[in-house]
Amino acid sequence: MRYLVDFDLFVIGGGSAGVRCARIAAGHGARVGVAEERFWGGTCVNIGCVPKKFMVMAAEYGAGADDARGFGWDIAKRGHDWATLIAAKDKEILRLNGIYRRLLDQAGAKIFDARATFIDEHTLDVGGKRVTAEKIVIATGGHPTRLDIPGAELGIISDDAFYLKEMPKRIATIGSGYIGVEFAGIFAGLGAETHLVYRQPLPLRGFDEDLRGGLAEAMSANGILLHPDTVPTSVVKENGAYHLALSDLSVLEVDLVFFATGRAPNVRGLGLEKIGVETGRLGEILVDQSLATSVPHIYAIGDVTDRLNLTPVATAEGHAVADTLFGNNPRAVSLENVATAVFSIPPIGTVGLTEAEAAQRGPAKIFLTRFTPMRHNISGRARKTLMKLIVDQETDKILGAHMLGEDAPEILQGLAVAMKAGATKADFDRTIGIHPTAAEEFVTLRTQTRVVGEVSSAE
Ligand code: NDP
Repeated sequence: MRYLVDFDLFVIGGGSAGVRCARIAAGHGARVGVAEERFWGGTCVNIGCVPKKFMVMAAEYGAGADDARGFGWDIAKRGHDWATLIAAKDKEILRLNGIYRRLLDQAGAKIFDARATFIDEHTLDVGGKRVTAEKIVIATGGHPTRLDIPGAELGIISDDAFYLKEMPKRIATIGSGYIGVEFAGIFAGLGAETHLVYRQPLPLRGFDEDLRGGLAEAMSANGILLHPDTVPTSVVKENGAYHLALSDLSVLEVDLVFFATGRAPNVRGLGLEKIGVETGRLGEILVDQSLATSVPHIYAIGDVTDRLNLTPVATAEGHAVADTLFGNNPRAVSLENVATAVFSIPPIGTVGLTEAEAAQRGPAKIFLTRFTPMRHNISGRARKTLMKLIVDQETDKILGAHMLGEDAPEILQGLAVAMKAGATKADFDRTIGIHPTAAEEFVTLRTQTRVVGEVSSAE
């Protein structure tokens, strides 16, 4: 078979998952082709994690300038120049973009700047050219979606937010998932009147309740106008402004409506139905443990499978598939205890079970602390840090670690390692802290706040 086809592996999509898979497979000696129709590095590098984080940093500098006054600095804040930020961000993204392409080139993969679609199980149309491959990996990612309400097309999605010509003065962000709360923080930090409209009582459904409550308070303290338990019903443009009607019958007048209402897998037009690759309700490609689709030589990795839509998961999946197929090292990626961060202001870092999830499994001890971080005792900013450990009452194992506060994502990465290694609360207690840091609180939490969850009747 090997020399009857053009490639041993063809990867559709040059995002985090696809690039890693193609690069590692080529390194294992496979003849690899990879196609990308938009930009190398995909969502994360171009219109996601990376530029978003630069924008969060920009927003934080403004508050930092205010905070510095308490420390004796006389900083005159004369406003923020959006065009400077976007130009600096674009320059850096272009650099990263080039790195992704070069990495593939250096690994020996053949690069196609084109769209690839299935002709049959082993044949693809790649920019009008017929290409055959023994194995095919689909790594096409996802795209943001708008709500189905009148005037929705007048609003933007996260793809557009990175290229706005100017910073809106008034903005309504709809949805309180990762993207909604992150962009609300960015726009509020850069000085816009910012509304966050969401249908839950608290933002970030699925996260630990204490984090959700703490984040709502922090967002209010940052001046974000929260509209919980509310859904938008229509958008109308009038006299250059947008009128966003809400289910509580109020109408917000803003300069920008931003739909952060979820993402959907990119499967349209790939020709999956033709070759029998099974998809779920939202179009997500269904995969087994080894990331194989219903067609055994075709794999799917990253956001197109809509499982845990995080870049590091996507790259890990790409790597695992390449090792399995060409590195003589079959392995799967565990989606258990994957740490994640929300770059709200302040940010969230979280790993493991929420209190509610732990309580369903059996009795768990909760350790919780809220304090004013050192810097804000002098800056005067009303900002609290929240830290929480959830501990299995029976085994003493740490089931969940959660933090809302400055540096939370940096701190949680280390805790995620400890949890992967099966750390117990006793291990945390015998660890000596680094002083003076916020992180040391995680190893000095001694007072149990409460016990949750029932002892199962079988015991
Ligand atoms: P999410 O799925 O996280 O959030 C979608 C939001 O839209 C929720 O608040 C949801 O409400 C709301 N929503 C959905 N449908 C409706 C509706 N019909 N009416 C009203 N509200 C609605 O999506 P995001 O767009 O924020 O992000 C997509 C994914 O991208 C994330 O889940 C994450 O996996 C990834 N991501 C990760 C980041 C990171 O790691 N820092 C950053 C950005 C994205 P409800 O909660 O009630 O369903």
